[in-house]
Amino acid sequence: MIQENLSAVEEKIKNACKRANRNPDDVTLIAVSKTKPIEMIEEAIACGKREFGENKAQEMKEKCDALPKDIKWHFIGHLQTNKVKYVVGRACLIHSVDSFHLAEAIEAESAKKDVISHILVEVNVAQEESKFGLKTEETLALIEKIATLPHIHIDGLMTIAPFVTNPEENRAVFRKLRELSVDIAAKNIDNVSMNVLSMGMTNDYEVAVEEGATYVRVGTGIFGERDYSKQK
Ligand SMILES: *Cc1c(COP(=O)(O)O)cnc(C)c1O
Repeated sequence: MIQENLSAVEEKIKNACKRANRNPDDVTLIAVSKTKPIEMIEEAIACGKREFGENKAQEMKEKCDALPKDIKWHFIGHLQTNKVKYVVGRACLIHSVDSFHLAEAIEAESAKKDVISHILVEVNVAQEESKFGLKTEETLALIEKIATLPHIHIDGLMTIAPFVTNPEENRAVFRKLRELSVDIAAKNIDNVSMNVLSMGMTNDYEVAVEEGATYVRVGTGIFGERDYSKQK
């Protein structure tokens, strides 16, 4: 099942790239494995998948420590400062930085471990009350502040679009995130590159790719529905 799902999603990404005149090599599919057991991740690894996404710090740590070292882990969930220690040094990219307070905790842990942490700034483009992330108009100021931290590199922006039945409804959200990243790139801030746009999930990743996503985060479309009833 995982093999077929992965091939189907990759095919759809390729087709979306074609429609948008983009090179498919510029889009990376992150397999979001949150709540899923190690065996399912191993199955995806056997299919050649190397990039996985998790949204809980301890769960990511456990899976990272149990699986081969060449797997890349993306941290995509809300991160509390007391959990930063599990993520720094393990995640290749932290997608969800939305405050200076969190950035400072990542800086301190990165300095301690003598690593550079790559991060994205999470923007709540659609301004949904229920979601984490910065307002569009707050983003530049936060980026300028984080850019001064020596053990952090800002690679780009991330957004979680609203849940909609018709993915076209999110096109404007994705477009806004890309426009914001172009505006910020034009400021040429030291220690900041705007090469990464993390946007698009199972429901809307094709539209996100058409609008410039470089990472799409797909869980259900690869591993099937999540079952939260067995969670502690
Ligand atoms: C769970 C999650 C995803 C994947 O969602 P699906 O709808 O299952 O593809 C993507 N991004 C974030 C931040 C998530 O928490």
